[in-house]
Amino acid sequence: MRILPLPLLLAGSGLCASSCAQDLGYTDTPFLPSGWRVHDPARPRPPVVDPGPAPGAPVPPPADAIVLFDGKSLDAFRGRDGAAKWAVAGGYFEANRTGDIETVAEFGDCQLHVEWATPVPARGSGQGRGNSGVFLFRRYEIQVLDSFDNATYADGQAAALYGQVPPLVNVCRRPGEWQTYDVVFRAPRFADDGKVLEPARATVIHNGVLVHHDQEILGEMVHRRLPVYTRHGPKGPIKLQDHGDPVRFRNLWVRELDLDRKADAAPAPK
Ligand code: MG
Repeated sequence: MRILPLPLLLAGSGLCASSCAQDLGYTDTPFLPSGWRVHDPARPRPPVVDPGPAPGAPVPPPADAIVLFDGKSLDAFRGRDGAAKWAVAGGYFEANRTGDIETVAEFGDCQLHVEWATPVPARGSGQGRGNSGVFLFRRYEIQVLDSFDNATYADGQAAALYGQVPPLVNVCRRPGEWQTYDVVFRAPRFADDGKVLEPARATVIHNGVLVHHDQEILGEMVHRRLPVYTRHGPKGPIKLQDHGDPVRFRNLWVRELDLDRKADAAPAPK
């Protein structure tokens, strides 16, 4: 019997989950419609592109934005058992192993701005390095990860639609530097019987660079399995993942969108 190094042994046993230090992908997962396996180690990693210098101060929100964090209070969020308990200091908040948090308000089609920074000095590797995530409807994840000089499977790196689609390029900044996500999200549409009429779609700009354009989302983001849709309402909370790493966030805001342009509809003929 070949004796495997401990991380490989754990990966094979399923105990490793997504935080295994040597997790570069899986060869026993199902195939996505793209032809790649979920978390395929052979899927090409996006080319690295330098996005330019990090912003200093947060980018001020537009006048019609719903501000989710003003630098001081987490009142717009709730945690597992009531109030959100992530640490707030210095105009940002930080995951502290108290569990995921999500917005009290719910959103459908929207434009979302998020600023985040991974821990410095960097610790761990692969999925175990600066892991968090931004989940629309608490289930469609735009991955947050320290992907600066940190190899992992392509559909799990920073700005990936987790387990589905890698970003077009890797524009991840160094650990500790502030990074931005600007997302235009179109919620899925369901029939009354739960059938998907239209899948969700997302356009994502990472550090000012396009990484997903009107990308179809295949279903709820899951680890090692094929995504599926479960019917939900037209609005849902935005969740931030506590994956055990002290990832920081600041300057979160949302603009609700009318992507079907109902507000532009002509009056019904009389
Ligand atoms: Mg994550």
